[in-house]
Amino acid sequence: MRNVKNNLAIIASSILLSTSSISFVYAQNDINQIRKFENLPTYDKADLGCTIDNRGYTFKIWSPLAEAARVHIYNQGRGGKPFESYNLHLDPVTGVWAYTSQKDLMNKFYTFQIKVDGKWLDETQGIWAKAVGVNGDRAAIIDFSSTNPIGWEMDKGPKLESITDAVIYEMHHRDFSIHPNSGIVNKGKFIAMLENGTLSVNGEKTGIDHLKELGITHVHILPSYDYNSVDETQLPSNNYNWGYDPLNYNAPEGSYSTNPNDPASRIREMKEMVKALHDAGIGVIMDVVYNHTAMSDGSSFELSVPDYYYRKKADGSFSDASGCGNETASDRQQMRNFIINSVKYWANEYHIDGFRFDLMAIHDTETMNQVAKELKAINPSIFVYGEGWTAGDSPLPIEKRALKENVSKMQNIAVFSDDIRDAIKGHYSNAKDRGFATGKAGNEETVKIGIVASTAHPQIDYSKGNNSKFAYASSPQQIINYVSCHDDLTLTDKLNISMEKADEADRIKAAKLAQTIVFTSQGTPFMFTGEEIFRNKKGIHNSYKSPDSINAIDWNQKAQYKDLFNYYQNLITLRKAHPAFRMRTAEDIAKNIVFDKTSEPNLISYSIKNHANGDQWKEIKLVFNGSSESKKVKIQKARWIIIGQDGLINKDGLGEFKGGDVNVAPYSAFIIAKE
Ligand code: CA
Repeated sequence: MRNVKNNLAIIASSILLSTSSISFVYAQNDINQIRKFENLPTYDKADLGCTIDNRGYTFKIWSPLAEAARVHIYNQGRGGKPFESYNLHLDPVTGVWAYTSQKDLMNKFYTFQIKVDGKWLDETQGIWAKAVGVNGDRAAIIDFSSTNPIGWEMDKGPKLESITDAVIYEMHHRDFSIHPNSGIVNKGKFIAMLENGTLSVNGEKTGIDHLKELGITHVHILPSYDYNSVDETQLPSNNYNWGYDPLNYNAPEGSYSTNPNDPASRIREMKEMVKALHDAGIGVIMDVVYNHTAMSDGSSFELSVPDYYYRKKADGSFSDASGCGNETASDRQQMRNFIINSVKYWANEYHIDGFRFDLMAIHDTETMNQVAKELKAINPSIFVYGEGWTAGDSPLPIEKRALKENVSKMQNIAVFSDDIRDAIKGHYSNAKDRGFATGKAGNEETVKIGIVASTAHPQIDYSKGNNSKFAYASSPQQIINYVSCHDDLTLTDKLNISMEKADEADRIKAAKLAQTIVFTSQGTPFMFTGEEIFRNKKGIHNSYKSPDSINAIDWNQKAQYKDLFNYYQNLITLRKAHPAFRMRTAEDIAKNIVFDKTSEPNLISYSIKNHANGDQWKEIKLVFNGSSESKKVKIQKARWIIIGQDGLINKDGLGEFKGGDVNVAPYSAFIIAKE
């Protein structure tokens, strides 16, 4: 997420912030708040909001400092007056206010209201609204069993023994289907994924069939909880937004449903989307943004327990490590309980297979460890990863932050490798900067750090790393490798701007090389939708509210760049067929990966040896030439099979090679293997 409201995003590089010393000043100022809240009772049960059982409809809100609390019942999701209001009663042991009504309140809406310091605050839907009215201002009471698609009880995501076996595809619902030539009927909707057999004008597969053809294992959906920025009452003229402005964490976004006025429809349709992907063998990872809320003073958190859920400064203003106006306080027990119960809810109710935490370092490592532990208990195949940085400074001490540099303290959590990202293509914030794959020397050691998934390796000198100076990962399962995502320039735009003197053929070669490094490296590969068909965003790097004309995938490009698509497909096939690219321990990587000595700029040559991780191949040799000149490399004499050469890749072999001198073409990978 980088749609921040101020300039702090510019310094969102983790290394800058993790070495900052400003946080101590904040931490001192925060002490008064901590004292005020540290002895409050907390509540970790998952029945806050409204639950329905044979006793009736029970409303619960945690608000231990409130003087009174009430719930208002409405017939409508917006407008009108409450037809009934009930006073809630406090349980001082838990801090929970509750009331049970025996009336039939099915399909009604409700809000809570809290009295603090003698004053009734504004009404709020609360933080545990699981169904909401249009635009999410009121919670809705619905029969959840009516939202389950046929066969839902049998629905399961793919089984995954190790996150490194995943191939992650980051996707925005609207980008993926909205283009007029997508061939999809339900454009911009969750249920676009239910459409099989869709084709572009040129007869290429689109939508879910495209995903199956490409071979990815998991779709990572951009924010799909109910967010604030898109007006759900004006669907035909909807604005575009990434959705990093959370409103209701436990209900889906209404604009992705066919009828946001019907609280059940967004829930049912999101489940149908999950099931369609599961039926295709594809897992669903949700992008979750618990680090800040869209609103500050008027948010459901502030209106439930003022000051509690956020980190604030001594003057009462919001601390802002998110760059979006506020930051939540995961180190406070009830916020921690909220995050844990919320992800568990998505895993159980929606069968979600993984979670990507936005600005994860705003959260503390203890919370993240508990998140991973509780999710693994539900389903061992669920995995968690996140951005191991913040977008601004925080009162949370650096050693407690879920930073990438602290990932060794988080056993079942992975972080994005900005090391490999910037080393391959050039720095993210400097559009013209080039990287290893685009002809700039000096990034070789950092690319190697990426190849070994930031684990300790005897041949790597971490002091030469561009972003990180030590082996911060204790396992390849802690690293997500990528060259681009929704943030910043697409890979295509980055290549167009930084390789301005090259022609498109060379840029495509560089794109192939860049992703070859990602997909053959240890760790888990991650790609951004449309890169496989050379998607651009017309040079717009922060397209969080840009129109469809910038963000939509133009499916006609699939025919135009079919060679690139085929390359991605073959690359994914290669990775999935060969466990050597998916080692599970740092020890295996240190033992099996051997770098060849070379002092050539923009050249890396290494072998994966010893039938690594049970691979049928005894040795795989990879040579990456990121320069604009071809490079002569000497290879040991043996019966090699050529797997990748001159912009082609095939796991079954492109030909044979007996060793000796070989010319590796500009911006290309040469990959050979022997049994
Ligand atoms: Ca919304």
